[in-house]
Amino acid sequence: MFKKILIANRGEIAVRIIRACREMNIATVAIYSEVDKDALHTQLADEAICIGPAPAKDSYLDIKAIISAAIVTGASAIHPGFGFLSENSKFSKVCEECNITFIGPTGEMMDKMGNKSQARETMIMNNIPVVPGSEGAVNNTDEALQIADNIGYPVIIKASAGGGGRGMRIARNSEELLSSFKMASTEAKNAFGDDTMYVEKYVENPRHIEFQILADNYGNTIHLGERDCSMQRRHQKVLEESPSAAIDNDLREIMGKIAVKAAKSINYKNAGTVEFLLSESGEFYFIEMNTRIQVEHPVTEMVTGIDLIKEQIKIADGEKLSYTQDDIEISGHAIECRINAENPSKGFRPSPGTINFLHIPSGKDIRVDSSIYCGYTVPPTYDSMIAKLIVYDKDRESAIKKLNSAIGEFIIKGIDTNIDFQYELINNKDFIEGNYNTSFIQSFVEKLEL
Ligand code: ADP
Repeated sequence: MFKKILIANRGEIAVRIIRACREMNIATVAIYSEVDKDALHTQLADEAICIGPAPAKDSYLDIKAIISAAIVTGASAIHPGFGFLSENSKFSKVCEECNITFIGPTGEMMDKMGNKSQARETMIMNNIPVVPGSEGAVNNTDEALQIADNIGYPVIIKASAGGGGRGMRIARNSEELLSSFKMASTEAKNAFGDDTMYVEKYVENPRHIEFQILADNYGNTIHLGERDCSMQRRHQKVLEESPSAAIDNDLREIMGKIAVKAAKSINYKNAGTVEFLLSESGEFYFIEMNTRIQVEHPVTEMVTGIDLIKEQIKIADGEKLSYTQDDIEISGHAIECRINAENPSKGFRPSPGTINFLHIPSGKDIRVDSSIYCGYTVPPTYDSMIAKLIVYDKDRESAIKKLNSAIGEFIIKGIDTNIDFQYELINNKDFIEGNYNTSFIQSFVEKLEL
């Protein structure tokens, strides 16, 4: 087993990985930017190395600095977490060239899934259902118009290199398509340096259902059930749960098998997530595969009892999966709320600053993955997610009750957060009844007049 792992990330996921390493008797190296000198991950790791100034491109995205830090500290593996370099195939390849194990898939596997229009093509070749649309990339607006005419409006224009909900625009007619195509491709060029676009039918009011995959280096690939991530604001997840109120055992088995087939079609290794849209009429379509650990992985951990970070490390170290598909049992219900430093009544504007009072809820089956402490200053530089509240109980109704109690107890002062917004959300009748889709939050926000 690895003796020392460098964690190429920050925030709650870096802390989460440090904890898993500690339980496995693996020493940890944190990297941090100048603004993260006092961050929790910097303090909790066995060693910490400053790798540059605050802007991510000069620190958490600086491959040379990170590899140098691993070499200097003698770390034999790197865990990339999520975001930053976690889906950067070049980083995975450079690690391999420097004899450092990248805890995740190979660069080649990432390339196959990272380019979303190419991933669509691969899925089509493997008979995995995809949303009707272009076969691969669309070169110009004329092609886009022709495809939209064939599949019918509304359509969604998406960036091949997209992520985090950016580079995506809906068009309900040809005029909208022309302007949306331009806007989406400009946004993609700015955000990802790549304006390759593709077109899909816009599925109205779908649920976002994703399957957690684990695959070892010996061809064993299993799924750990689904997560329902339909609570989204601007295509970004806000709350996630497992299992989904919209999936029964039969559908879970069918979709799970297809998710495993999708992963196997590219010989995928390590942890990954196959994402689907489930339409109102019950059809489901592959939308993308994320080749890394997800923010929402704890809900799967709670209902399966499997520690996904430890599994990632064991797989990267060459261990065989110790479970078969038949060993996986989903029991009870887990829900996660993302706690962000933002102000919902001011258009969800980020709210960096110093936390001057903090009470974190606790109790049986209440888990908080966070990177905050009283006196900590949330920098303006990075993502606004500062904590995740996860609860587990025997069924959905009990889990919601527990979440209600726990979130009511969560107090963060000194900065604005979305805690009250999450409280309203989980007390909404439709959420309680499990009756929601990806359009829910938008109308919820309008009703709250935020
Ligand atoms: P990203 O990689 O940016 O997260 P995804 O392809 O995973 O992008 O899509 C994010 C979200 O956007 C989905 O969960 C869904 O809410 C919405 N979305 C994406 N494609 C479609 C589509 N064809 N129809 C309707 N909604 C879509």
